[in-house]
Amino acid sequence: MKTITVPCHYDNYAYIVICEKSKKAAIIDPAEYYPLLQILKEQDAQLTAIYCTHHHADHIGGLEEFLGDYAGLNVYGHYSDSNRIVGLNVSLEDGDLLSLGELEGKVIHTPGHTSGSVCYLFEDAVFTGDSVFGGGCGRLFEGSPELMYQSLSHLVAEIPESAEIYFGHEYTMQNLKFALFVEPENNRIARRMSDSAALLESGGFTTPSTLSQELATNPFLRCSEMTIRKNVAEKLFADNSSPQAVFAALRKKKDSF
Ligand SMILES: [Zn+2]
Repeated sequence: MKTITVPCHYDNYAYIVICEKSKKAAIIDPAEYYPLLQILKEQDAQLTAIYCTHHHADHIGGLEEFLGDYAGLNVYGHYSDSNRIVGLNVSLEDGDLLSLGELEGKVIHTPGHTSGSVCYLFEDAVFTGDSVFGGGCGRLFEGSPELMYQSLSHLVAEIPESAEIYFGHEYTMQNLKFALFVEPENNRIARRMSDSAALLESGGFTTPSTLSQELATNPFLRCSEMTIRKNVAEKLFADNSSPQAVFAALRKKKDSF
């Protein structure tokens, strides 16, 4: 399996996944047409599938052009988005299995950012769209904090700790600043910030991270940690009586951070 990160728009990431045995390729989030087309041509791979993590325009902006170019393209997305993602012809639900050439994948439904948000797991790589970011999680446009907390817990349970997390936007530095505000004692956050800053300065990307890295530094996946619970009460004056309440307080604060 080969995964190529394709920066699109201002700070979006789209991805191309290639089965190296069959040379079949898929796009995850067709954010923009030309940058993705360029890479597909360079790779000499056959585009057979488009996997949409959710319906937002910045993630599907190139979809119509690909549909015009490639007859018989399979466009995947959550069944509830069939009226919001143009050309969606393979409706998915949680737990559905996928194949791309000889690669096997799995669908993990993670509602919260949008009701139809899904993550795609191929081998040890998970593509999270706007559900999980480096050091953070997506805003809650179509779900309660409780629902998003449940979605992220479900995701964590479904993927190995070594999983690489390919996320939908370069928000890592802003997210880590918030993480450090919530948990100033966590040395791993400071270290990740300096590593990320160095990566970005050299023209690289902070995607992918790993689940183990997120579990150590992403406050939205650390709602049971004592330090975070304490700071939610002392700094945010919010309810910390359950991980769900801590998650809700963090998400609310982050929205205006
Ligand atoms: Zn979005």
